[in-house]
Amino acid sequence: MLAFAATLIVCTNPSASAEQTLSSPIYTLRCDDPRRHLWQVCVTVEQPAADGQRFRLPVWIPGSYLVREYARHVVSVSAHSAEGPVAVSKTDKQSWQAAPCSGPLHLELTVYAHDESVRGAWVDDRRAYFNGAALLPWAEGLESGPQRLRIERIADPCAAGWRVATTMTAEDVDADGFGSYVAADYDELIDHPVEIAAWQAVGFEACGTPHRIVLSGEYGRGEHGADLARLAADVQKVCAWQIGLFGGQVPFARYDFLTLATRGGYGGLEHRASTSLIVQRDHLPRARGHDEKGYRTLLGLFSHEYFHSWLVKRIKPADFSPYDLTRENLTRQLWLFEGFTSHYDDLALLRAGVIDATTYLKLLAETIGRVHGMPGHRVQTLEDASLDAWIKYYRPDENSPNATVSYYAKGALVALSLDLHLRSATAGRVTLDAVMQALWQQHADAPLHDGDFEALAEAVSGVELGGFFERALRSTDELPLHEQMPGFGIDWQWRVGESDDKADTVTLGARFEKRDAARVKTVLPSGPAQRAGLAPGDEVVALDGWRVDAATLPEVLKTLAPGQAVSLHSARDGRLRTSEIVPVAPEPDTCLLKLAASPDESALALRKGWLGA
Ligand SMILES: [Zn+2]
Repeated sequence: MLAFAATLIVCTNPSASAEQTLSSPIYTLRCDDPRRHLWQVCVTVEQPAADGQRFRLPVWIPGSYLVREYARHVVSVSAHSAEGPVAVSKTDKQSWQAAPCSGPLHLELTVYAHDESVRGAWVDDRRAYFNGAALLPWAEGLESGPQRLRIERIADPCAAGWRVATTMTAEDVDADGFGSYVAADYDELIDHPVEIAAWQAVGFEACGTPHRIVLSGEYGRGEHGADLARLAADVQKVCAWQIGLFGGQVPFARYDFLTLATRGGYGGLEHRASTSLIVQRDHLPRARGHDEKGYRTLLGLFSHEYFHSWLVKRIKPADFSPYDLTRENLTRQLWLFEGFTSHYDDLALLRAGVIDATTYLKLLAETIGRVHGMPGHRVQTLEDASLDAWIKYYRPDENSPNATVSYYAKGALVALSLDLHLRSATAGRVTLDAVMQALWQQHADAPLHDGDFEALAEAVSGVELGGFFERALRSTDELPLHEQMPGFGIDWQWRVGESDDKADTVTLGARFEKRDAARVKTVLPSGPAQRAGLAPGDEVVALDGWRVDAATLPEVLKTLAPGQAVSLHSARDGRLRTSEIVPVAPEPDTCLLKLAASPDESALALRKGWLGA
């Protein structure tokens, strides 16, 4: 009875008018004790379905292609109407039916929220955050109409000074943002993440549109603190360049970068007028102890998620139109929506003047090395990688490097290769930028079917691209980048890089865990480790009679010669195994790209058009 009495208070909604409540579900959100990591959610439906009202939680959140089963965090569910308690039954893994009922009906859920990622819901004594997909079930039959959300102030003393940051439209809120918000439909309701904390914000305008970077978490104080003015200035340039790419058309009225700074986190999720980001606090710009490489990574993340405002939030695959929130939504087009976004995230830093051409080539070379370093790029095509994202990319295991290709990294290289192809075929007249502009003009509101992008690229450029796309998307053949680079005044070299399992002279053909024991993570195909019978999970105890662990393995490898058998002591399932292993010379796997010193005139012109260098 206590829960019932308490929820009656949760569900009051003094601000909504009678007309509003008739048509819109009203969500009320409350947290009594942040330390318990529980949200109390109430959904009020004025006129529930006569034969019972169904409520359903998404199984996934758009932008992150994994069935996450948000319903598994629901701790308890109950319902009541003016007449008293209403029976609620679970009808499938994500749905609840309240029946028999009359209006107004109140469904109450208690939801556990301790997922500090950009994809879920969180509350503790430092901050609160949520995506609607993780907390707010849709009222069946009412998804396409307006949805109202009331966020109640958290009374606990730990929440003193907390404010609400979200791009959802405020209807009736106090100075700190607590109160009522409205969304046009359920799809929009769950597309505005909400940060509630003692955050700090810096604002700027890009092409006349207001933007904010809302920073939460610990990010340094005093003279060691983050230089937010520099961050805002750099992000502003990147935003302005991207807006320019799409003809100055901004698909939102204002934009928030909701940024959580943590010790080692990294990740982002795109939304229609905002993004949720988790960054490493050491990567924020600083007056002292600044980490330039880390800062570039951070800016790349900002750039990536912002680019999605056009590509995937507005220009969508037909497979996502509309989203089906009850199951996987398969598409063959993630090479475009994630890969081309990845291409433009670093390119935008160059074009915006935040990095120079030499740095850009270094980032490009890293991407080439990443694709090349995954033997799976010779096994899986990009279209297959996209289709299987739900069961492979998002559920990696020890064999993933051998069997899969990243539609982010290889997709980015396809974008680059296509850009270079168009530039050289048209003497620099047509570029990928022109194709992206046409894509925006023609598909901002017309979903993209398989093949549409390929046809558009041909139509815009007048270049026959059938062979290019067949090879890039539906075969595992290498992209022609190596042949393209000299024509753009770029020198390309391969060299042997350094990593834990590989010294300059030998490799065991396996990847190892980085900490403590020398435990095999992945056995690469047809290499010494595979021939020696090593398996993922095995611990290499000694090599050539020398005891090894994760830290000392590289040192011992340096003493071995390629082609020469040495003793191998390993352990599996608590039992020591003795055999031999024959290390081999490693293949060059690190790509180096450099501006050629004296390219010919046409290469120089193409390079200038591409890199501005
Ligand atoms: Zn992305």
